[in-house]
Formats: sequence, structure tokens, C-alpha cells
Amino acid sequence: MTLTLGIRLWLSWRHIRYVGGHRATVPADFAMRIPLAAHQKAADYTIARCRAGLVTTLVDSGLLLALTLGGGIAWLHELWSARLDGIAYGLAMIFSLLLISALIDLPFSLYRQFVIEARYGFNRMTLALFCVDLAKQALLGLAIGLPVIATVLWLMQVMGADWWFWVWLFWAGFNLLLLFIYPTWIAPLFNKFTPMAEGETRSRIEALLDRCGFRSSGLFVMDGSKRSSHGNAYFTGFGNNKRIVFFDTLLERLTPGEIEAVLAHELGHFRKKHIVQRIVFMFAGSLAFLWLLGQLIDSSWFYAGLGVPAQNTALALILFFLVVPVFTFPLSPLLSQLSRRHEFEADAWAAEHAAAADLIRALVKLYEDNAATLTPDPLYSAFYDSHPPAAQRIARLQALT
Ligand SMILES: [Zn+2]
Repeated sequence: MTLTLGIRLWLSWRHIRYVGGHRATVPADFAMRIPLAAHQKAADYTIARCRAGLVTTLVDSGLLLALTLGGGIAWLHELWSARLDGIAYGLAMIFSLLLISALIDLPFSLYRQFVIEARYGFNRMTLALFCVDLAKQALLGLAIGLPVIATVLWLMQVMGADWWFWVWLFWAGFNLLLLFIYPTWIAPLFNKFTPMAEGETRSRIEALLDRCGFRSSGLFVMDGSKRSSHGNAYFTGFGNNKRIVFFDTLLERLTPGEIEAVLAHELGHFRKKHIVQRIVFMFAGSLAFLWLLGQLIDSSWFYAGLGVPAQNTALALILFFLVVPVFTFPLSPLLSQLSRRHEFEADAWAAEHAAAADLIRALVKLYEDNAATLTPDPLYSAFYDSHPPAAQRIARLQALT
């Protein structure tokens, strides 16, 4: 755990130094397209976010220590086991911990939104909207979380030694259901989705979809500008419930041709089966981890080693989810690498079905608008970045034109 923390702090430190070191000049490839002031804003914004991330990492590690070796979980266990048992005890334990971590995270998310995002002109959110969002998220979390966690605890109790397989089946089914209902039931709780208006953009998009033989159940515009000026486009849902969603902020900034190219990139992800691959990968990963938990659940050293004096299914679940990120961290460069390969493939697909020059122009605008740095620390980027550095993406696209 110390090693993981050390690597994370070291990578962030490198990144801050590297971005700061390249702040003075725009990289040669971009000198014609991005003004120096925008480049420096991107550097300052990146450094501010990375610094805030460093503090969050330190606080989270402190919390993890306090909960395990510091006796926090042991204390909660005494509190709840004296009053409740069975599934009610498990739910009380899990929800108290979720509440504690949400409370600790709250000042950080306030700082990110109302200090950092506001300072660089990205925040469009009022404090009232922030609170409404928080309340909605909490209610939704309770409405969905309570029955789901209760079912998991129940399966762990009644299914004997193979419980991990049944929990996995339930979990996989629940996730598929969530993917299916998200666009029509959950996303509209937070944003307004309006069908895209007729016009050049819409007819170009429809022509692109026809050309590629792609069927969707609608083109929508989302009022992303309600919260932030960052722009985006995405697909949601699957099967017959697929929707294509554009942030209003993206439509404002890009020309119809550029929007077509961005959508072609997203279609590329779809056609190259990246989305299905990601879901299969996630399901295989959760099966492996649940199996591992199935092996650990009866080992007393697992509890004692983490400072917990008792042994039961709820505690096993809690400890496991607390320590899993420490062990998945070494996998993150591999996952990022895979994701970057997918981005290159989607770019190449987009260049075949739309104009590569449009995609390049769109990327440059998005980098500038989002104040994304053009000069990440190479090692930091290799570890974390799900998207390849701008210079590499554009160089490859140029080679395709
Ligand atoms: Zn992509």
C-alpha cells in the first residue's frame, strides 16, 4: 500500500514539474493553432487539478488507514452489532461507511467545482444546483443501493461455498439492466434531453449514420452547459435503446463538419466493438475478484491483518472493497494502454468515414476549450491517460489524410 501511494505521489510530482517546465512555449506542432495564452492557461489548470488530486490521494490513504488499522471499522462493528444482526447489520455497516467517505469527499468536490473550475471559467453551476444534484444522487443511491446490497448479502448467506458465483450472476444482470435503463430513466433526472433540431448538422449526421448502416433510437442534445462549459459527445444504452447524445456546449463550438467527424470517431468505438470488449472485460474482472473474495472470506488473517476483530460476510465485503484499489492500481497502465489503442483505432475508422482534417480541427478546438495540456509528463501519461497525447493523435491522423 505504501508502494502504491508512493508511486502515485511520485507520478503527480513529475507531471506537475513537467507541465510547469513546458509552460513557456507552445509545442512546435501546435504553434500555428494554439495561442500562448491558451497554452499557459492549460498548464496552470492541469497543475491546479493535479495538486488538488495529490491532496485527495493523501486524505484517502489516511482514511483507509484510520478505518482499518486505526480501528474505525472495529468501532462501527461494535456500534451496530450491539443493535442489529443479519442483513440489517450488514446494510448499517456498509451505508455508514459510504456516508463517512461521502462526507470526507464533499469539501474536495466543492473545491474542484467552485474554486478550480470557476477560476478557469468552466464552472456554470450554482451552489443550489450542486445541492440539488447531491440530494438526487443520495436518494437514487439509496433507492438502488439498498435492495442491491441487501440481495448481495442475502446471496452470500444462503448460497453456501459457491456464493461468489451467484453474486456475480446477480451483479452482471444488474449492470446490464442499469445500462439499459440509464438513458431513459436515470440520465433525465439530471439533464434535459431534447431531440436535435433539423438543419445542416442533423442532416450531415443522418447521412453519416446511413452511410455506416447504423441504427439508433434518437439524436439528442443535452444541456451540459447547465453545469460546465466542457463539451462532449457520447453513446448510451445498447440494443434497441441506443441514443446518441451531444452536449449543447460541443454543438456551439464546432462546425457541422467537425461534429460529423467527432461522431464518426464515436461510431468507430462502436463498430470496432470497444464498448462490448469493455463490458466483457469488466465482467471477467469482477468474476475473478469475487472468486478471490470467496477464498479469503474464511481466512482469519484477512480480518486480523486489517485490524478488524470480528469475521462476517458484511465485513469481508467492506474490507475487500477498501483494499481492492491498492491491488488494481498496478493494472492501470495496462488498461490505459488498451484504451489508448482503442482511441487510435476509432480515429482511423473516423478518417475512413469522415474527413480527417475535420477531426484534427475538432481535436485542437477541444484541447483548447478544455484547457487540456499538450505537454503531459510521458510517464504520467502512460500510466493514467485514457486518450493518447494530442500530438500523437494528430500526427497519426495527418498520416491518414
Ligand atoms: Zn474515443
